[in-house]
Amino acid sequence: MTPSPALHGPGRASILDGNSFRATDGTVLDPRTSRLVARRSARLGPSYRLFYRDPVEIVRGQGSRVWDASGDEYLDLYNNVPSVGHAHPAIVEAVHRQMATLTTHTRYLHQGILDFSDELVATLDDDDLQVVLVCTGSEANDLALRMGRAVTGGRAWIATREAYHGNTALVSAHSPSLAGFGQLDPTLRIIDPPDTYRAGSPEAAGEAFLAELGRAIAEIEASGDGLAGLIADFSFSSDGIFFGEPGMIAGAADLIHAHGGIVVADEVQPGFARNGDRFWGFQRHGIDADIVTTGKPMGNGYPVAAVIARPDVWDAFHAQGPYFNTFGGNPVAVAAAHAVLRTIESEGLQAHALETGRQFRSALSALAAEHDQIGDVRGAGLYIGVELVTDAASRSPDGEFALTVVEALRRRRVLTSVCGPHNNVLKLRPPLAFSPGDIPHAVERLALALADARATR
Ligand code: PMP
Repeated sequence: MTPSPALHGPGRASILDGNSFRATDGTVLDPRTSRLVARRSARLGPSYRLFYRDPVEIVRGQGSRVWDASGDEYLDLYNNVPSVGHAHPAIVEAVHRQMATLTTHTRYLHQGILDFSDELVATLDDDDLQVVLVCTGSEANDLALRMGRAVTGGRAWIATREAYHGNTALVSAHSPSLAGFGQLDPTLRIIDPPDTYRAGSPEAAGEAFLAELGRAIAEIEASGDGLAGLIADFSFSSDGIFFGEPGMIAGAADLIHAHGGIVVADEVQPGFARNGDRFWGFQRHGIDADIVTTGKPMGNGYPVAAVIARPDVWDAFHAQGPYFNTFGGNPVAVAAAHAVLRTIESEGLQAHALETGRQFRSALSALAAEHDQIGDVRGAGLYIGVELVTDAASRSPDGEFALTVVEALRRRRVLTSVCGPHNNVLKLRPPLAFSPGDIPHAVERLALALADARATR
């Protein structure tokens, strides 16, 4: 998730009669929510942002649904951390069993990490790959950026305009979406994502992307910074969700390699079967990635993340000294991740994501035909972007309308959010437990929320 400053939250809510809060838009919060918001901002401070002007207190989840403290049920169209479903019994059981048996760290022998890493590597096309387990996507990308510099001897990375790769000093300096909050690395070059909506066709979007890449490489070579490579989420999710057509940007890795750089595929968003076509997002485009990083969906909520690369890519990094991560790869994290992999396999979730996503996009496209403000419905598998514009002819992004729709959906008990440089793309990314039976409910609520949002204009 990209921290979006414009997004949600009661804002600087003012206290009403000592008990209730009024959000900046006038929404009055109930007393329990008000008390939690007050305690939270007093104890946790302002860096912790909340979703929604009327924040939701979620207390329980199951599959694609969550329930709030008053017992109201919500359809979750947003959360990919509970990737195979909220409170999935197979993952709960695996974590519980391992927690009740042993948890240590990677300095003792343990078969679990080896069995799991073998299966993880089997999702990729090269049996020689090596795996390092960490706890978060940020840690995985931090390692990848350091490895890339070590193996190439170059310093400069290329990233897309709204990319978010994590929160460490190094990674946030390579996350253009955080540009307003701190210093980006002066050697970072920023390129536009392949905007399939405005380019006219997937081919044109792919060509424009490769041209952007060529421009950035030339700039780096002229500067003498030395090319480290490209780090990208090949679903371009915080850029606005541009999965595009498979293979559309296939030439990207060849271009980087021809200039001595490497490619880091940040799979925190598109990986783990969600895109439906392939297990990983970069595989959809036939990209020859040198380092794969993953996190979020990997443990169904248990913190576990990974960096995967060929031994020759690891070598220069390993030569710099040992790497140890206290919680990374602990037996409980591994049990969670292993159970997620097995559940994806046993429940056929990749094929499920492909087919359910196709049906969901087709129902959303039918809705778009009736609403001039839905400019585009796009995505792959169960990762869908619905771009809201002032009107279909101008394609002008309408972020304010999108935020109003998100708030209206929340009132109608559907959770989602927005992404893209103008915060105008609804991000539909449910747990993979989302089923074809959920589609009519989701589409009906979206139609009502669009009407609500128009009425409040
Ligand atoms: N990369 C991408 C593409 C992400 O979306 C995120 C977080 N949502 C991260 C990296 C960072 O992961 P984490 O929050 O687990 O550190």
